[in-house]
Amino acid sequence: LKGLVWIVGAGPGDPELITLKGLRLLSEADLVVYAGSLINPEILRHCKEDAQVLDSSKMTLEEQVRVMADRAGKGLKVVRLHTGDPSLYGAIGEQIRALEALGVQCRIVPGVSSLQGAAAALGIEYTVPGVTQTLVCTRLPGRTPVPPKEDLRVYASTGATLALFLSSNMGDEAAKLCMEGGLSPDTPAAWVYRATWPDQRVGRARLGELGQRMKAEHVSHQALIIVGRCLEESRSSLLYDPAFTHMYRKPGHRDPEGDGN
Ligand code: SAH
Repeated sequence: LKGLVWIVGAGPGDPELITLKGLRLLSEADLVVYAGSLINPEILRHCKEDAQVLDSSKMTLEEQVRVMADRAGKGLKVVRLHTGDPSLYGAIGEQIRALEALGVQCRIVPGVSSLQGAAAALGIEYTVPGVTQTLVCTRLPGRTPVPPKEDLRVYASTGATLALFLSSNMGDEAAKLCMEGGLSPDTPAAWVYRATWPDQRVGRARLGELGQRMKAEHVSHQALIIVGRCLEESRSSLLYDPAFTHMYRKPGHRDPEGDGN
């Protein structure tokens, strides 16, 4: 066999949050394999009428690999749609290795992650001058273990913004570990359920009440937990402080990273 499989980030939910490249590939594909529970079916309207469109949640990994390798080997266009961006908890490694073992190349097209969808829903930036310049994406251990050195308490102790994936049924445990790591129970926290979907829901709570509040709101899956002072400091960013402008944004000064920070 030979050929090519495109691994495409579909975005977090809103069907308009796919890249132009992802959309073009999707609309040209002969075979599309998508993650049933997490991909907005609206996005599949862009598939060709005669495209074969398969829900991966009803297939084993071997079945997925076999059908993708078969079509790619016949020179057909194959798209594997992943939720959000494939680089975050996408579990694409196994697939890529299995496809490559059959001589099939994989190429990745990035997507908008729920990480970014959640920030937009909250109206915040994760990196706020004078508060934190670091964002940690992590999770609590589940079926997939987390290396012991990456214990949540370690990151909580830094005061960096924390974004917790795959942990929304463990709000209590997450908050407990953050506080054991040294964050005060007053630290602002939030959850975003189904960011960018029509039924998106956002909630905010102090860390000390996070678990209880999430339970009361029945948030147990498809949510991100965000912890950190960025949640209340975003809107008073130093960027808009005249002193900051004076010090760092002299006329003609261009930020080397081009991000204005
Ligand atoms: N690659 C995906 C993440 C897959 S792991 C991405 O970039 O977003 C699945 C976890 O991501 C879920 O448990 C949840 O924590 C988070 N997630 C995925 N989609 C989400 C959404 N629309 N809103 C909030 N969290 C989401």
